[in-house]
Amino acid sequence: MTIHFYNTLAREKQVFEPIDPNRIRMYVCGPTVYDYAHIGNARPVVIFDVLYRLLRHTYGEGHVTYVRNITDIDDKIMEAAKKGGESIEEVTRRTAGWYHQDMAALGALPPDREPRATEFVPQMVAMIGNLVARGHAYAAEGHVLFNVPSMAEYGRLSKRSLDDLIAGARVEVAPYKKHPADFVLWKPSAADQPGWDSPWGRGRPGWHIECSAMSGEILGQVFDIHGGGLDLIFPHHENEIAQSRCAHGTALMARYWLHNGFVQVNGQKMSKSLGNYFTVHELLDEGHRGEAIRLALLMAHYRQPIDITRDGLKEAKTALDRLYTAIQRAEVEALPAPNDHILAALADDLNTPLAISEMHELVSKLNKAENAEEKRALKSALLGAGALLGLLQQEPAAWFQASSGALQAEDIESRIAARNAARKAKNFAEADRIRKELADAGVILEDGPQGTTWKRT
Ligand SMILES: [Zn+2]
Repeated sequence: MTIHFYNTLAREKQVFEPIDPNRIRMYVCGPTVYDYAHIGNARPVVIFDVLYRLLRHTYGEGHVTYVRNITDIDDKIMEAAKKGGESIEEVTRRTAGWYHQDMAALGALPPDREPRATEFVPQMVAMIGNLVARGHAYAAEGHVLFNVPSMAEYGRLSKRSLDDLIAGARVEVAPYKKHPADFVLWKPSAADQPGWDSPWGRGRPGWHIECSAMSGEILGQVFDIHGGGLDLIFPHHENEIAQSRCAHGTALMARYWLHNGFVQVNGQKMSKSLGNYFTVHELLDEGHRGEAIRLALLMAHYRQPIDITRDGLKEAKTALDRLYTAIQRAEVEALPAPNDHILAALADDLNTPLAISEMHELVSKLNKAENAEEKRALKSALLGAGALLGLLQQEPAAWFQASSGALQAEDIESRIAARNAARKAKNFAEADRIRKELADAGVILEDGPQGTTWKRT
């Protein structure tokens, strides 16, 4: 099977040719952990999870290495820690835990490696030293900066010239910069800020260098696929390429650059700064199913923008009910085996909307199928499509049971209030009964100094 991807670096669809078919290497920029992930953050996780599944299917499970980092040192994390009166470690441990829970609820497989930036500071310091030695970086006032004019091909990924960069005022002006487009590799830390010793004094890395150091260490100097959201093309990915290529003296950092489009709310990009976002966590708390969120995220082609609404999630849930019903009704044993239509759709630059419509087509045929052999073939194809898209990964009975039994957030809150009232009245038998009743419905209570919180199992 030939896989085609749209490669941002070439601005065209290309045949995917791995460097080594026995060792496919993919890197995706992961989260900065200081808060709950919103749906916009979840889209690349789901998209690249489908790509990971397709590559494993095509080249074999043991032949694909997927790396997605965790940024656990950042000014936003420092701010969050200060605000909450917590240590940085507490903030990152807690929020990385939320991230893992939420992404698992969306059916995303864990990556093969999940490096944390703070574990790779020596590699970052070494890489920065190398860039200084090669004349691509310079130290100034406790900072180390990448010298953008030293790289002839800077701007190749984002199709920007140096003049565009300055005219577009996309660069931060600072007195210690030789050129306005130069960007920070290392910055000084005050005594109360986290820092590491380096040849340029105690400080901490800039964001871009993290991905160059971690991908270089784990995947090598040139690897197959680098992914992330469209908003990372400039400056983040442009700067990653500049650092990696100049430090290693290579013509490429990664061969294929894949970028997913934005999640929108009423036609506007969902973002934390605009405040128009909803988190995966709150949607799950409202009773939306993780699998429905996943299906909704796959309904548009990954390069296109997508609007996610609560009504859309309800429609996705209804669509899944239809798929699970068809599987349940076809009472034959079947092993997952995607058919050629599904494979062709996904091999064509991950055409998930086409693959999903093919699944519905299979359901229509399955509902009409009469003999066991025909049912088995259709059910296999449906389950095989599900395995590639990360859908239909549970038993139909479990899906329907969870649907009917799922308590709404307001019901849970009112039961917690009733339990608190019982505890206040020292009616502990009643309080325990309510706790058990919620546990049976898949809701776990946790009593803490701030009151009672709950989560779904
Ligand atoms: Zn990155």
